[in-house]
Amino acid sequence: MHELSLLEAVRQQAIAEARRHGAIAIERIHLRIGSLAGVDPEALAFAFEVVMAGSPAAGAELRIQTVDARWFCTPCSAPFTGPSGLCLCPRCGAASGLLLQGRELELSSLQIC
Ligand SMILES: [Zn+2]
Repeated sequence: MHELSLLEAVRQQAIAEARRHGAIAIERIHLRIGSLAGVDPEALAFAFEVVMAGSPAAGAELRIQTVDARWFCTPCSAPFTGPSGLCLCPRCGAASGLLLQGRELELSSLQIC
């Protein structure tokens, strides 16, 4: 389950960030997840508790913000948002090979105490 390794990286980053601010615990973790990141939010929420247990982030609340895939159409010189995996420009129908966002899985903010 690759959610575990993703979350371990998030935990390390969150704990490092909390320490830098002299926090003793992490109350809430906000993640940004692209619709093309290949992550199942339910599996992620389940794995979150397992991974955070026994760390300063144990019991932290997980907030997930989903980011829609966003492409860039070269003929139109404009970005567009597409449903998962679909990269056809709604204006001209051209297929875009340029993904602007949608694959990220990142820590967007933390609430610490
Ligand atoms: Zn276009």
